[in-house]
Amino acid sequence: MTILPVIPTSPDQPDAVAIRRRPSMPPRHLADLDLAARKAAVTALGEPAFRAKQLSTHYFGRLVRDIDEMTDLPAATRARLTGDLLPTLLTPVRELACDDGATRKALWKLHDGALVESVLMGYPDRVTACVSSQAGCGMACPFCATGQQGLTRNLSVAEIVDQVVYLAGVAASGAVTGSPPRLSRVVFMGMGEPLANYPRVIEAVRRLTTPAPEGLGLSQRHITVSTVGLVPAMRRLTAEDLNVTLALSLHAPDDDLRDELVPVNQRWKVAEVLDAAFDYAARTGRRISIEYALIRDVNDQPWRADLLGKLLRNKLAHVNLIPLNPTPGSKWDASPKPVEREFVRRLRETGVSTTVRDTRGREIDGACGQLAAGELTEASAGGAAADAEVAQ
Ligand code: SAH
Repeated sequence: MTILPVIPTSPDQPDAVAIRRRPSMPPRHLADLDLAARKAAVTALGEPAFRAKQLSTHYFGRLVRDIDEMTDLPAATRARLTGDLLPTLLTPVRELACDDGATRKALWKLHDGALVESVLMGYPDRVTACVSSQAGCGMACPFCATGQQGLTRNLSVAEIVDQVVYLAGVAASGAVTGSPPRLSRVVFMGMGEPLANYPRVIEAVRRLTTPAPEGLGLSQRHITVSTVGLVPAMRRLTAEDLNVTLALSLHAPDDDLRDELVPVNQRWKVAEVLDAAFDYAARTGRRISIEYALIRDVNDQPWRADLLGKLLRNKLAHVNLIPLNPTPGSKWDASPKPVEREFVRRLRETGVSTTVRDTRGREIDGACGQLAAGELTEASAGGAAADAEVAQ
């Protein structure tokens, strides 16, 4: 780890200093590599190429993440491969369950001490994993706990994939009461801005959607990438050969308010970001999901519902209203239910399909903007977001 020069933190504290460390990426893991690269890696370690497939079948096919449980591999092979292909990326700090076991949150410590979270949500017909793409977040949305922490670093491909493989294993063990055992959906709605970690997130999506044993074999359509609206990256995503669902965190239909709620709007305005989202929908044929956290007396006025309806009318879009989950110390609160109902009614009146997201995980701080809040006092990473379920 490189230690950069000591710099004063602020003019108000001339004597204060901060040591800024360069973010440290984790060691390589097999989930960072495609099958060909895994073969090259095992051969470079003096093992036959078929070991790559063997490891992959354990990891992606059987959801075994610990090499010591791969007992058909000779002990010497395990010892040789573990550090180079299956290092521990996620160390559990705590795990919580609520909603009668249908929602489970895992808090992880990464190799450099950064904290991230993942949430597993079970429904009668499906199980969804909500994963983090960054430790912290640089987007600074004022209503989001992660946004208050700043960005620590991007997660690696394997750090993203390993969250999903872990949660898929939990689902497979039957731990999610009342749900099928197979994890079928992934939403990038945990900590971080996925499109700010573009190449790794795309690579992770490819790994998650490539059939086993190379990948996890999920359907692209069942993966949702949520963004604040980084227009160039949205356009890049449109050009990829991927059919993932795109969610856009709009939160306001007008630039004045969106400039405040989603600061990146100061760079890419509502019209531009919607244009990029509609182009994505047109190219993929997939309806975009417009995320809108309803905040009492901030963005919940009837005229804003009407304006949103006008912007989305006749478009391939669905509105997902999220009752605001207030972050500690925040001046903001969720809209009262009658206000929420009126907002929904007006949107539907314009013909825009609208649902209100359920608020999974609130009692375990697993809901949007709340993750890890109590664990962060001495950690470098930020609290995150995640009750994330996109209405279908
Ligand atoms: N950075 C991405 C993904 C992160 S969070 C994005 O912004 O889209 C997933 C969703 O949760 C986003 O729509 C985000 O705005 C929302 N969210 C964050 N904090 C929230 C809170 N306190 N209450 C309700 N929704 C919140």
